Amino acid sequence: MRYATSRIEESQEHAPGSFNPLKPMKAVLTDVRDENSDVKTYRLKVGDGFSRSAAAGQFNMLGYPGIGEAPISFSGIGEDGEIEHTIRAVGMATRFIERMRKGSEMLIRGPYGRGWPLGAAKGKDLLLVAGGVGLAPIRPVIRQIMKNRADFGEVTLLIGSRNDEGLIFTNEYSAWQKAMSVEITVDELVTKKPWNYRVGLITALLNRVKMKAENAVAFICGPELMMRFICRALLLKGAAAGSLSVSLERRMRCGIAQCGHCQHVGFFVCRDGPVFPYKQVEGLFDGLL
Ligand SMILES: Cc1cc2nc3c(=O)[nH]c(=O)nc-3n(C[C@H](O)[C@H](O)[C@H](O)COP(=O)(O)OP(=O)(O)OC[C@H]3O[C@@H](n4cnc5c(N)ncnc54)[C@H](O)[C@@H]3O)c2cc1C
Repeated sequence: MRYATSRIEESQEHAPGSFNPLKPMKAVLTDVRDENSDVKTYRLKVGDGFSRSAAAGQFNMLGYPGIGEAPISFSGIGEDGEIEHTIRAVGMATRFIERMRKGSEMLIRGPYGRGWPLGAAKGKDLLLVAGGVGLAPIRPVIRQIMKNRADFGEVTLLIGSRNDEGLIFTNEYSAWQKAMSVEITVDELVTKKPWNYRVGLITALLNRVKMKAENAVAFICGPELMMRFICRALLLKGAAAGSLSVSLERRMRCGIAQCGHCQHVGFFVCRDGPVFPYKQVEGLFDGLL
C-alpha cells in the first residue's frame, strides 16, 4: 500500500492556519463485517475528538484521493474514538471502499448536518421505521435508547427489506428486542432459511404498532417512496405532522452548504438536514415526499 499511504499523506498536507471544515482526516479501518452480499459495516479509528461531537443521524464524507467521496451516515458512534459506517457498494467511491481491508486507510470529513431530534423524543413513545440500508442511521438511535431506556416510553422498531437476504445487523435483533418491540417484514423471501417474521410491505406493520400515533414521535429512514407512505399513514392515524422526522438523501459534494449540489428549495440537505421534520419537506416538488 505504498501508493495508498503517499496519496493520503499528500492530501493531509495543508497550509498552516485556522480550522478548515473541508479538511479530511485520516481514518484507519479496524474491522470490516459483511452484512449481506453488497453491504458491509466498517469500523474506523479516527483522530482525537472526532466521534465525541457526532450525533445520531449526522453523516461523514468518506473517500479516497483520486477516487471520490460519498456522504455516509454514522451507523455507530463509539465513545472509544471509533465509529462505524454501513455502506452499500453502488458506484465509484463505495465500490472502492468495499475493496478495503482491515488496516486500510481512507479520508473522512465531518460530522455534518443535523441528526435525529432525540432530545424531543425523551419521555414520549418512539416509533422507528427503517427500510433497507436506512436502518444504518437509525442504529445509533437504537443504541442510545438501550443505554438510556428509562428516558423513553414505549419504543417500537419497524424494519423492512426487499428480501431476507438484504437484511442488515441481523445478529443484533435479539438484543434490541430486549429493549423495544421489533417488527420485521420483507417484500419476498429468497433464502431457504427459517423465517419467523412477516412478508409484505412495511406499511402493513403499522397495524401491529400498539402505541397511539397522536402521542408518538417517529423517526423514518429509507427509500423516499416508503417514507411518504409511512408518513401519510401515520398522519391518518392521528400523528402530529411535527412529530415525524425523515432523513433525506441527495447528491452532495462539499457537505457544508457551499457547492449547492444538494439545494432543495430554500435549504441545503447537507447543512439543514439530512434529518428534517416531515412538515418542512412534505410536498416539495423535486422530492417524492
Ligand atoms: C446524508 C446521506 C447519508 C447517506 N448514508 C448512507 C449510508 O449510511 N449507507 C449507504 O450505503 N449509503 C448512504 N448514502 C448514499 C450514498 O451516499 C451513495 O450511495 C453514494 O454517494 C454513492 O457514491 P459512489 O461514488 O459509490 O456512487 P456514484 O458512482 O456516484 O453513483 C452510483 C449510482 O448511485 C447514484 N447515486 C449516487 N449518490 C446518490 C444519492 N445521494 N442519492 C441517490 N442516488 C445516488 C448515482 O446516480 C448512480 O446511479 C447516503 C447519502 C446521503 C446524502
